Amino acid sequence: MINPARYIQKIFIAEDCRDLPHTARILKRAANIPVQEIKGHQLPGLSTGDHYHHQLTAGKRNLLLCRNQGHFLKPCPGTREYRCCEYQILNIGMNCPMDCVYCILQAYLNNPWLTFFVNTEDLLIELKGFLAAEPQRFWRIGTGEFTYRMALDQLTGLGAILSEFMADQTNAVLELKTKSAMIDNLANVDHKGRTIMAWSLNSPAIMQKEELRTATLDERLAAAARCAAWGYKLAFHFDPIIYHQGWRQGYAETIERLFATVPASQIVWISMGALRFLPTLKQIAADRFPNSSFFFEEFVMGLDGKNRYFRPHRVEMYKYIYNLLQAKASPETCIYFCMESDEIWQEVMGFTPEEHGGLPAMLERTVSGGVEQK
Ligand code: SF4
Repeated sequence: MINPARYIQKIFIAEDCRDLPHTARILKRAANIPVQEIKGHQLPGLSTGDHYHHQLTAGKRNLLLCRNQGHFLKPCPGTREYRCCEYQILNIGMNCPMDCVYCILQAYLNNPWLTFFVNTEDLLIELKGFLAAEPQRFWRIGTGEFTYRMALDQLTGLGAILSEFMADQTNAVLELKTKSAMIDNLANVDHKGRTIMAWSLNSPAIMQKEELRTATLDERLAAAARCAAWGYKLAFHFDPIIYHQGWRQGYAETIERLFATVPASQIVWISMGALRFLPTLKQIAADRFPNSSFFFEEFVMGLDGKNRYFRPHRVEMYKYIYNLLQAKASPETCIYFCMESDEIWQEVMGFTPEEHGGLPAMLERTVSGGVEQK
């Protein structure tokens, strides 16, 4: 089984983080990896700026432990033009040890360093204050807009820390998304059902060819089944859905194996999102992955400035996948679109989120034991 943390060749520690408890815990787990302390913010070796993506492959092998100087929590940057689920994101670091051809981070960031914020106490204080400020509101919180989420969990142990913290919060759930199967740290956590373990899924061909250093389909599903046995609720994200030869067969196979491996009753939600990307990503991906060709289909510029498949093309793929999911999913599971218009919802699912109280309410109902929405 692939452990993304195994690819880290060196750990750099900002001098003001040397004595933090989380730094000590990581260094204990990473006993064989060389460590270097750095002064100020002088990062040796890798360049930043416009052409930083040439350094990305190297950056993924160097882990920087430093403080987050800003806020940890922020709203997911959905756009007004598409239906957004109003998710809150915990910013736990930057970059990712895995390497997906379509990864948006390649075009978003200007720094190749794999970074983990070790001032975890500050994170928990901020999160506690945020949840206490509006106790009547219900929040869904996830990890990482700019980062790898759970890929380094074997080193960081953050998943267990967050799950234990969330167990005592009554107005929120935490979703830990990953493409890894390294979930051992979550085995004995008293999570009280407030952590949802989530995996991105794709057709087996895309997972194998376009998602480097990630777990295979079987490994992800086996990890999900273990988490289900430990009482975690589950979620799955078919995102990005990519047009490729044999896509029907591929997505059907993944869905078949998903429901043959994990209990449908423990899946709270499943999202679908077709490939969308900033125009600059196409050239970066072509430079880094010359054998990948899916960026060379026909696309249209969306209202959010991202390229997407033409609407009839998206609808065709969504309808096919949605029908397969709906046939197998529990009636309690919320199947939804990430960043799509009401027109697409109507055409594929036959309703708009507003008819069911809005997407945030639909998702909230599924985790609070709620109401059928289909
Ligand atoms: S797992 Fe996510 S963050 Fe990591 S490379 Fe793939 S798409 Fe990017």
